[in-house]
Amino acid sequence: MAKNYRVTLIEGDGIGPEICAEMKKVVAATGIKIQFDEAFAGQKGIEKCNDTLPDKTLALIKKNRVAIKGPLTTPIAKGFGSINVLLRKKLELYANVRPVKSFPHVSPYPNVDIIIMRENTEDLYSGIEHEIAPGVVESIKVITRVASTRIAKYAFEYAKRNRRKIVTAIHKANIMKLSDGLFLACAQQVAKSYPGIEYKEMIVDNACMQLVTKPSQFDVLLLENLYGDIVSDLCAGLVGGLGLVPGGNIGKKFAVFESVHGSAPDIAGKGIANPIAMILTLGMLLEYLNESEAAQAVRQAVVNVLKAQKIKTPDLGGKNSCGEMGDALAAEVKKLIK
Ligand code: NAD
Repeated sequence: MAKNYRVTLIEGDGIGPEICAEMKKVVAATGIKIQFDEAFAGQKGIEKCNDTLPDKTLALIKKNRVAIKGPLTTPIAKGFGSINVLLRKKLELYANVRPVKSFPHVSPYPNVDIIIMRENTEDLYSGIEHEIAPGVVESIKVITRVASTRIAKYAFEYAKRNRRKIVTAIHKANIMKLSDGLFLACAQQVAKSYPGIEYKEMIVDNACMQLVTKPSQFDVLLLENLYGDIVSDLCAGLVGGLGLVPGGNIGKKFAVFESVHGSAPDIAGKGIANPIAMILTLGMLLEYLNESEAAQAVRQAVVNVLKAQKIKTPDLGGKNSCGEMGDALAAEVKKLIK
């Protein structure tokens, strides 16, 4: 008998509601029964529950164990802190997994197949900042053995499970000898238990240059929080932009799936956002639920629609709407599932 799933849904801000609507069309096309329990956070959390991360929202994610979310806007240089970061910390979603893969006709680099494995709970995202004297501020970078070892293990286990060959730790330990040095020491220790997987290290600035000159040399990238954030967007650029890269925040007990991109305020409400990243994120969620056939169909549908070159949103050089892309993908998934 087919399973009925309950998944918490945070539509988020900006383009969030538009892309979530298309994601739901694709869920219907897979035939998988998912009931979405809607929850609120960020600005909408304040409007609905007077809190940026209401207890109700956390409780609903914990109850269902799995959530999918659109992007949340974070005020720049003022206002409340990032709810995305808070959510990851509160639920101990320590691994941020972001597969970046080339697609036909839209990716400037054809042979990219990289898994970004970003530590998700500490580093400069610890949020410890203070002004020690007028005109002098400190921002504390926290790196711990526990969190560094945990993400390194996750990266190597992932590599083993998915027949990946190389894990490259990206760092700046030439300058941050203690913090990035500890991150590397933990990765080196973990690597010893995986003789079948090659372990490499690269300084982050060189890694950025190598990524744009020869991205096909990379397989799994292991990064601290901040480098992982920046390198994710760089890698998205290699394959055609932020509209194409999905992601998942995974912990021991819970998982919250969200694309790499933000709320894209410049295009919000115009109906031109690319829903592919959100739909591929759904694919990751389906894989997590062990619905592999549906997950496979979602990914294949994206490839087929892009190969056909009939439907393209403006970020991919076309003129189609978010809704038209969602419809095309849902129709393709239906064909593939039959
Ligand atoms: P952004 O990712 O929202 O947008 C960067 C550029 O990419 C913009 O030009 C945007 O139009 C484009 N873009 C992004 N997603 C797209 C899509 N699906 N289709 C087509 N084009 C797309 O980054 P930003 O402008 O730096 O951030 C906006 C807000 O989002 C900020 O408040 C930031 O804090 C937040 N943010 C949230 C998350 C999250 O919720 N996980 C992640 C990143 C940024």
